[in-house]
Amino acid sequence: METVVSGIRPTGNLHLGNYFGAIKNFLKMQDEYKCLFFIADWHSLTTHPHPDNLQKSVRTILAEYLACGLDPDKAPIYVQSDVKETLELYLFLNMNAYLGELERTTTFKEKARKQPNNVNAGLLTYPTLMAADILIHRANKVPVGKDQEQNMEMARKFARRFNTIYGCDFFPEPASFSGSAEPIKIPGLDGSGKMGKSEGNAIYLIDEPEVIRKKVMKAVTDSGPTEPNSEKPEVIQNLFALLKVVSSQDVYEFFDEKYNSCEIRYGDLKKQLAEDIIGFTAPIRERIKEISSDAAYLERVAKTGAEKARESADATMREVRRLIGFR
Ligand code: AMP
Repeated sequence: METVVSGIRPTGNLHLGNYFGAIKNFLKMQDEYKCLFFIADWHSLTTHPHPDNLQKSVRTILAEYLACGLDPDKAPIYVQSDVKETLELYLFLNMNAYLGELERTTTFKEKARKQPNNVNAGLLTYPTLMAADILIHRANKVPVGKDQEQNMEMARKFARRFNTIYGCDFFPEPASFSGSAEPIKIPGLDGSGKMGKSEGNAIYLIDEPEVIRKKVMKAVTDSGPTEPNSEKPEVIQNLFALLKVVSSQDVYEFFDEKYNSCEIRYGDLKKQLAEDIIGFTAPIRERIKEISSDAAYLERVAKTGAEKARESADATMREVRRLIGFR
């Protein structure tokens, strides 16, 4: 069975975009592949987080992913820093990673532009750490978005290079894949492109009903269609895109017909949308609260995940050391 490895950035709370764009796919993947999920706390050090926040954000993201249905019995979930074998592979890979190629990475150039006072070596070698995360389990597939495509190219290059240097066929070249389901983009409701934390337009899974209602009622609309069956402008498409994922088919069709016959009342649509989002998030929110308050459970999940991940990492590193010449 093919191995899938997926990294999770411990940055704040999960929103509807995360759920429908990534997590829903993870839930399918954990049934179809041998999956390993890890929380990328080492990667987050490139921005120098406060020690208190590091701990807290790892716990938060772990609890929220579990609440969404990631099942540690099907796929281990571990914290990156619990599997030190990754660091050893990172070191080995760095010996064959070249300054020029690392400097040319778009993600590095972007980060260097965003944080000009902190262009650290960790940022530069982000692609080698990412390659180590993947190759440590000799993964075949990695679910990533377009923005990570170049880093995936690097991971494949490092795998190939290792195999060539040591005359072996040890590391598979990991393929990027979008997962089992079609990737969907969840839009923001402020008229801008996509929903995101940094965009400040996110509806979070932990948002209380009142907060969700307020956010949805503030969504940007237009003055309504004047001709039957006219094309929906982007802001209206955005509302319908959300209806599509949280509401029933009947509800979606009802408002679609109202739009097409120019009888739509956006206030009604928003009210319905808010209630359907609440209906969807409420059980998840309850589970987040429950799981977050159960420190022993979280610890157990992370510990078991680390044990399983280390078993796989250890097997890889034994062979890597032997191939490199540590005998
Ligand atoms: P981030 O919260 O930016 O760390 O995003 C984590 C993952 O969630 C991304 O790699 C995407 O797969 C997914 N994601 C985030 N925002 C959206 C969105 N608005 N629509 C669809 N997928 C999203």
